[in-house]
Amino acid sequence: MDGLEVALKRKKGAGAKGCNWAASADGDGLKMQRVHSAQVYAQALKKFHGSLTVPESVDVSLGSGPEAGAYLVAEEGAPPMNDRDLRTTLRRRFRIQKIEGTSGVCHHARTCRTICGTVHGHDGGRHAARCNIGVGVTQRHDDVRDALHDWLADIGRHPKKEQEIPHWNTVNERARLDIVLSDPRLGEVCIDVSVVTTVTQGAGRGALRGIERRERKKHLRYPGRGLFPFVLDVRGKWGREAHALVQAMVGCLPKERRADAVGSCRRAIAVALQTGVANQIHSAGKPPALTADISYVNGASQGATAEDVHGDSDFEDVPEDGAPQPLGSQAAAPGSTAAAAGG
Ligand SMILES: [Zn+2]
Repeated sequence: MDGLEVALKRKKGAGAKGCNWAASADGDGLKMQRVHSAQVYAQALKKFHGSLTVPESVDVSLGSGPEAGAYLVAEEGAPPMNDRDLRTTLRRRFRIQKIEGTSGVCHHARTCRTICGTVHGHDGGRHAARCNIGVGVTQRHDDVRDALHDWLADIGRHPKKEQEIPHWNTVNERARLDIVLSDPRLGEVCIDVSVVTTVTQGAGRGALRGIERRERKKHLRYPGRGLFPFVLDVRGKWGREAHALVQAMVGCLPKERRADAVGSCRRAIAVALQTGVANQIHSAGKPPALTADISYVNGASQGATAEDVHGDSDFEDVPEDGAPQPLGSQAAAPGSTAAAAGG
């Protein structure tokens, strides 16, 4: 035993507690175990990211973090994600290319019933998640907005949806903000929700770049005080301003309730986002006449129409050079026109 104690005393760094067996028995050992496993975890994570190419590593980072994975958290009173969408979300998270429901041609349909027609095959849902044809992008945005709105209402913030802010109106566009509420400290809080599909190919390191660019763009569009861009990547990561906003919003709650409230917010938003993306993927794989089983987060969103225009929140591609990404083909080839009967 003497030899062991000497060895422990000589040990440097975290865990160098020598032979303080009493402390270990008191639970200090558990704390050290946490420190050691954190080190092992950090090392494994570093090694894992080192084994990936830069775009893949950024891709993984954009789907990581407590907010991105919050759809896995079980919460009393909140229904879990449905199995189909959870399966799709997990396959995307594991970067599995083959996802059920996808086929060779994107079936996202315009209101005139022509389809997108882009050949996407098994691309891990990449095309379907960013395809601007059909209602998927708007639906996803609205579900995330509703999740945030309902959470703000739950914590007693009295938010209002879709409010016009006249001093931000321009000649071409009326400023209709997703959520507006008033805060005693911050004044009028105008929240603009947007989902970004950060392009990682050839973009270099820095997972938050696409999100930050969107945040800056929103501040340029709505200058001055009062704008709070709530930007999240399609893989789940939030921008810094979104995190800061949620922290500011829970400030009205008693200290002991804040962490739980932040948790429910993350969960509700992650479920809304991932359900929306899963719907886009599944609807891309089915001819429009057959898409009957779209699932809705709150069951109340069926009223949303394709004509419901949402300004630039809908345009989600963020290529590194800032140029708009060619999205599908606006004029579909005559061969790909689906004259879907009925439906
Ligand atoms: Zn498409």
